[in-house]
Amino acid sequence: MEKYIVSARKYRPATFRSVVGQKSLTSTLKNAIASDRLAQAYLFCGPRGVGKTSCARIFAKTINCLNPTADGEACCECENCKAIERGNSMNVVELDAASNNSVDDIRDITDQVQTPPQGGKYRVFIIDEVHMLSSAAFNAFLKTLEEPPKYVIFILATTEKHKVLPTILSRCQTYDFRRITIEDMVEQMQYIGEQEGIKTEPRGLEVIARKADGAMRDALSIFDQVAASSRGNITYESAIENLNVLDYDYYFKLVESFRIGDISGALLLYRDVRAKGFDSLFFLNGLADHVRNLMVAADPRTAELLETSKDVAERYTAQAKSLPLQWYYAAMKVLNDGDVQYRTATNKQFLVELVLIRLSQLLKPATPPFDLVDYVFPLGDITGAALPAAPSQSTTSQVAREEEPRKPDRSDKSDSPRIKKSSVASFRLNDNSVNEKMAEYSEQRKVHREPVSIEGFMQAWQAYQQANHQQHILTSAMRGSNPQQVGEEEFLAKVGHPAEVQAFELAMTQLLAYLRKQLSNDFLTIRVEIDPTRVVSKQLPPQEFLKECIEKNPALGDLLRKIDGELA
Ligand SMILES: [Zn+2]
Repeated sequence: MEKYIVSARKYRPATFRSVVGQKSLTSTLKNAIASDRLAQAYLFCGPRGVGKTSCARIFAKTINCLNPTADGEACCECENCKAIERGNSMNVVELDAASNNSVDDIRDITDQVQTPPQGGKYRVFIIDEVHMLSSAAFNAFLKTLEEPPKYVIFILATTEKHKVLPTILSRCQTYDFRRITIEDMVEQMQYIGEQEGIKTEPRGLEVIARKADGAMRDALSIFDQVAASSRGNITYESAIENLNVLDYDYYFKLVESFRIGDISGALLLYRDVRAKGFDSLFFLNGLADHVRNLMVAADPRTAELLETSKDVAERYTAQAKSLPLQWYYAAMKVLNDGDVQYRTATNKQFLVELVLIRLSQLLKPATPPFDLVDYVFPLGDITGAALPAAPSQSTTSQVAREEEPRKPDRSDKSDSPRIKKSSVASFRLNDNSVNEKMAEYSEQRKVHREPVSIEGFMQAWQAYQQANHQQHILTSAMRGSNPQQVGEEEFLAKVGHPAEVQAFELAMTQLLAYLRKQLSNDFLTIRVEIDPTRVVSKQLPPQEFLKECIEKNPALGDLLRKIDGELA
């Protein structure tokens, strides 16, 4: 074990060049030193572990080096460099204000300031976590900061810039350190692996880098930990196992389940994730991240925003291509709703299962074809997703332009659904099928607005239930909802339980498409409300409600029992 516990200290950067992930900042510092434009006080801000203290030490070393290199780095060989590296140079004084924040601690510093440097040009006072100084200590320090001797340079470091008093801020030259990117961290760990004879797999290093969340120092100590427990062989598997990270394979598999509408597959994956001890909200958020990454990967122009290694990025791109763009917007909406409802849900597991079911059904409605018509006609507002402003691509937008001048051939006074050129542009139509598809599509585009009666509506309403009798929660909700016509084209369905509202939401796209087609009215809408008078008698907690549903519908029970025994 011992032999691996080295990296963070051993690979602490010794020169500006070896600082990871802060290139522009270090070159600015270097230039300032080279041109002798030094400030008397610096403030280094940024998250922990990104190199603030290291840079402060390198800075101190460089300005005191007896023999700096041609490109303005410390030589690391001379007496001064060595003394600073050993930590016993008179010219560098460090104070950790997190634990030494009293007036006396500061007095000690201000006294020392009076002693000139020895064997070098400057004395550098590094005060770490400067925002932690007590206000009395701050005040005692301020005077010295205002008029320090010429040979004194203060470098104040903080993770919380907003807590630093304005009087201090205004006297310092500020440098903002960034979080270190995954890529930079992986590269550095790869280098260390090579130096130390530790085998590393980029995907494994990426897991470590993610866990470190932008802090190089953390990355290196995790690196040591994984190297030790995997006996010097850092793989993707050894990293996720050691760090208790959820394998992103789950998310790839889940999205595949959503794509093919495999509800059981999705629920079983969720069960596995729970069995591994992962929190459901963590899982939900991870899934949202995954969908976001896919969305980013779907467009070559944003793909480079993916903070991930090349082979994982390729997986994202491949999966992204398998889904229509609108799916992402709908999925994000579902996930976001799930996240919002999570906090108040009494049965979190049930909520997550519902979210997964909804996601599995987004692509399912078959009429009208989702990839074409659904995209152009926002059918109801169920997805809540705004039509995306997709990139215009030459061939497909050509198609759209040709269709554009055709106006609906009816004298319709109201706004008819119009193609948005920008959104049509992202259809993937292959050349052979364009004409055929467009014919079908312009047929679909005709606006229909026949008068609707409650009788006609009820007929279609029941026909839909018969055709979808396997969707038990939905059809039972439909049966009990007693729809009323509340406007020329608007119907109101009342249900007794939030889960029934959700069942409607899940099916709304498909249901509306069906009813609109049957009744030749593209403007028909359905509002679903909870009927408070029915809630009283049906105010069951979700688990009870689920039990009731299972009683009515043994098949659902079988499925859920397969997935987790506790509902049995
Ligand atoms: Zn030197």
